Order: sequence, then C-alpha cells, then structure tokens
Amino acid sequence: GGAAGSAGGSRFDLDKETELRFEVEAGERVQLELLSGHGEVFGSELNRNKKYTFGPGSKIAVFTWQGCSLSLSGKTEVAYVSKDTPMLLYLNTHAALEQMRRQAERDNERGPRVMVVGPTDVGKTTLCRLLLNYAVRLGRRPTLVELDVGQSSVSVPGTMSALYIERPADVEEGFSVQAPLVFHFGSTTPGTNIKLYNKLTSCLAEVFSQRCEVNRKASVGGCIINTCGWVKGSGYQALVHCASAFQVDVVLVLDQERLYNELKRDLPHFVRVVLLPKSGGVVERSKDCRRETRDDKIREYFYGFRGSSFYPHAFDVRFSDVRIYKIGAPSIPDSCLPLGMSQDDTQLKLVPVSPGRDLTHHVLSVSCVEDDIEGGESRSRGILESPVCGFIVVTAVDTQAQVMTVLAPAPRPLPRHTLLIMDIRFIDLK
Ligand code: ADP
Ligand code: MG
Repeated sequence: GGAAGSAGGSRFDLDKETELRFEVEAGERVQLELLSGHGEVFGSELNRNKKYTFGPGSKIAVFTWQGCSLSLSGKTEVAYVSKDTPMLLYLNTHAALEQMRRQAERDNERGPRVMVVGPTDVGKTTLCRLLLNYAVRLGRRPTLVELDVGQSSVSVPGTMSALYIERPADVEEGFSVQAPLVFHFGSTTPGTNIKLYNKLTSCLAEVFSQRCEVNRKASVGGCIINTCGWVKGSGYQALVHCASAFQVDVVLVLDQERLYNELKRDLPHFVRVVLLPKSGGVVERSKDCRRETRDDKIREYFYGFRGSSFYPHAFDVRFSDVRIYKIGAPSIPDSCLPLGMSQDDTQLKLVPVSPGRDLTHHVLSVSCVEDDIEGGESRSRGILESPVCGFIVVTAVDTQAQVMTVLAPAPRPLPRHTLLIMDIRFIDLK
C-alpha cells in the first residue's frame, strides 16, 4: 500500500489486514472516502463514495480485512499505513465472546460480562467500541458500561453510565446515545470520592442485572465495561470491586503485564484474565488534550455534534425553587467523628449548599429523584442512587436577587429540583 496525490486529496491503496492511521491538525478538518473494497473505523463499516469528516484532533484508523482504496483530503498531522496491528487478536477475542453468547443462548444462561482495563492511552475505549460494534453487527445487543469519569464516551465527564447498544457506532459521531442510564459522580477522577465511585459501580451492576432478568437479548449480549486508566492503589481496588459487582467473566488487560498478574492473583479462578497488546496506532494524549475532549463533550451535550443540532436555553432559577447538594463532607479526623459514624458516611453524605458566586461555571446534574420525597436519611440515600435526567451550567449568580442564570438543554422550568454540584466547570464561549 501507499499514498499517491490526486485531485482533492491523497489516495491510499491498502493491502488486506493493514490500516491507514491519521491525525487531524488543530483547527482543521479532514475528509475520508472509501473508493473501493471494504474498510472500517474501529469496527464501523465505511460506505463507498460517502465523504466522512473528522474534526480537529481526531485520531483515526481505517482498517481493512480484505484490502481497499481510500482518499484523504485536508490537513493531517500524520497519515501512514501500518501492517503491524493487533486486530487479528482483537477479532479472536470477539470470536471467543461470541462463542460464549451462543452457548448462553443454547443453555439459557447469561452472556459474557467483560471488563477492559489498562493504564491511560492504551486503546481501552477503542477496544470497547470495536467489540461492541462486532457484536451488534452480528445482531447481538450488548451493553456498554462506561466507568471512566475522566473521558466518558457516553455522557458528560464526571458521570458513570450504561448504554444499551442497538446499532453500530456512527463513523464520525460514535454510538448514538438515545437513552443512557447516567449517574452523577461529580469529578474527573475516582480518587476524589472512591466510596461513591464504588457505590455507583454497584448501582450500575444492579440495574444491569435487573434488565438482564427481563430482557433476554440484553442478558445474552452481556456487557463491555470501560474503565479508568488509574490502575494502582484504590484505583486497582475499584477494578476488583467492579469485577465482583458485575460478576465479570472475562477481563481484557491492555498492555500491562503487572496489572495482568495482579488481577490473575486476586480475581476468582473462574474469571478469564487475558493480556492483549496495545495497538501501535494508539496516540498518547496530553493533559490539555484531555481537558479539551472533556470540554467538547459538555459542549456537545448542549449544542449537539459539531455544535449545530441543539439550541440550549438560558433562564433564571430562583434559589428557593431548587435544592442544591454536594456529595461528600470534607473528611475530618477519625477522632472527631460523631459516635457511630465512619469515614464512609462522610464520603456518601449529601451536603446542602447555598448558592454563591463560586458556583458560577459549575456543571450541575439534575437528579431524577422525585421532588416530593420527604427529608432525612432515606431521602439522601435516594438521591445518591438516583440516575440523573440532565445537566445544567450555572452562568451567573445574583446573591442579592437570590437567583442564578443557567444554561439548560430545554426551556424552563427545570424538570426536577434536586441539583448536584460537579467539580467540573464549563465556560460557554459560544
Ligand atoms: P484509552 O481509552 O486507553 O485512554 P483510547 O482508546 O481513547 O485509549 O485511544 C487513545 C487515542 O488513540 C484515541 O484518540 C483513539 O482514537 C486513538 N487510536 C486508537 N487506536 C488507534 C489506531 N489503531 N490508530 C490511530 N489512532 C488510534
Ligand atoms: Mg478511554
């Protein structure tokens, strides 16, 4: 294979089992077209003679099992063809999972529950997408469980979610997020509140299991769990907790032998732990790049993909009409805790917040919890374990008038009145 210039772009002729990798320059767009043969982007098939556009910073691979010709136009930072990919191993992994689904179907059991783990920038999210795409292309209905609170592929950062996959990911936009189940975590690293992180992991596992009991296709499809790149200390413990909460059958470890050995040692013997190499195409992302991706994800929530499909609303909300909480009281020394209270209780405590100027730019989750549930312990437990129905951003706070201005996806009024503060801020530059 190789590149040849042609009118409007470069032409790449790929041999079978090779991939074209490219990165889009900052501020640029690149167009891709499949001229002949078959090609796929992270498991989503390309249509012939359709132009796909990728925005600034996109890092893409077009893989071909049979061979194909592609045309690429626009400014790429790099664009090259590689013959050295782990795709055959990934396909074999998919085939093994599909075998498990077939067996589940036959024996009236549940399909594979898979956890994908590894340090940052090893292709975890990409592997999840590939496995989900291959499964759904065979008519399966797998569930994506997204536990990466820093780089969620489903919702805004600071959330943990589950998405029932019914069609392959769109080549440009990813999976369609029609009705995800989303929980509020509130920050971009699990370490901020590991108790809450583990608790929400358990909540998701419970909801998924309930769904499997009433939906045979969901049960056979199983789930693919995407995790954070934090694999040491409490981050590692969170992986072990997740494996137990979801009763995972298979753990795919990308690129780290130590993690592989630790999990083999610590997980029950019936869990299959598999070490897979990372693709040489996976690109390391800087802190800035991660922050930008997070911002993009929030912008996408309000304005739609490429900022053109939704029109958010700005309106005032009276302080007296909402209840605002932060999850987790600041930790205090054990010796100062009230009798009978543990640190766990403080991490899972709902702390009422009176709005002030410092709330400006913060993202707030709108809890689905019923507004009329009466106070006390039962109420706060209800809020922690309730999914969220949407997000708003505080754009201004007027303490004198006791109102705040918010950016919301829908016109007033807010659908619910219990709001949870995220550490995450978003400045709307639109
Ligand atoms: P992780 O989830 O482990 O942090 P990702 O799956 O998000 O890693 O991959 C990091 C980046 O590398 C993403 O931007 C992704 O699009 C890109 N990428 C993954 N695989 C390839 C590949 N084979 N060729 C080019 N880019 C890739
Ligand atoms: Mg990821």
